Amino acid sequence: MTDTSLGRIGVALSGAQIFNDYENPERSVVAMDDNVIHDHVPFVDECNGHTLVNGTNYHYHGIPVCISDSLDQSGEHSIMIGVLEDGFPVYGNKGQAGAIVTDDVLDECSGHVDVTPEFPDGIYHYHLTADEAPYMIDCYHGEVEIVSSQGGPGGGGLDFAALAEELGVSQNELIDALGTSMPPNFEAAAESLGISVEDLRAAMPGPPQQ
Ligand SMILES: [Zn+2]
Ligand SMILES: [Zn+2]
Repeated sequence: MTDTSLGRIGVALSGAQIFNDYENPERSVVAMDDNVIHDHVPFVDECNGHTLVNGTNYHYHGIPVCISDSLDQSGEHSIMIGVLEDGFPVYGNKGQAGAIVTDDVLDECSGHVDVTPEFPDGIYHYHLTADEAPYMIDCYHGEVEIVSSQGGPGGGGLDFAALAEELGVSQNELIDALGTSMPPNFEAAAESLGISVEDLRAAMPGPPQQ
């Protein structure tokens, strides 16, 4: 079992990314509860999602109700929303016979084993909930490769721990600031980390940027 980090923890079938509950590595700002401007990030929209500071990487911090409300059938288990990085499917907050699923019936990673519309033989799956935090998924039930999964295409070789230490920021702050786009938006990342673009670029491996 591994804690989910800031940044992408899964991908929705809509193409949006799935994040955990939090806006900071200390897990003190819950996007759905602390619905205020934090680090210049506009807060969640009517679909319980928003972008990173740099306007990219649209992601959900709650059930994407604009989609699930129209897809879910009354009296039935939620339709699959997406897949977490460990490969297990993610659903809204409706269980068997459409009963509302709350955190107290789920395990510590907000999952359980049950049958779903897509997996009639039963499967471990996560539920996003709406009653209280965690609304999203705070830990992975399965195995994940944290560094490579956060690096994006071609980014698997990036040593976030060493880079964060060199820049004097936490690894989670760095991963969150860089986002998952390749190449990262260095201006936005440097601003959110409170360091200069030159320092950030100098610390990044590979050929010099432009
Ligand atoms: Zn967010
Ligand atoms: Zn279920």
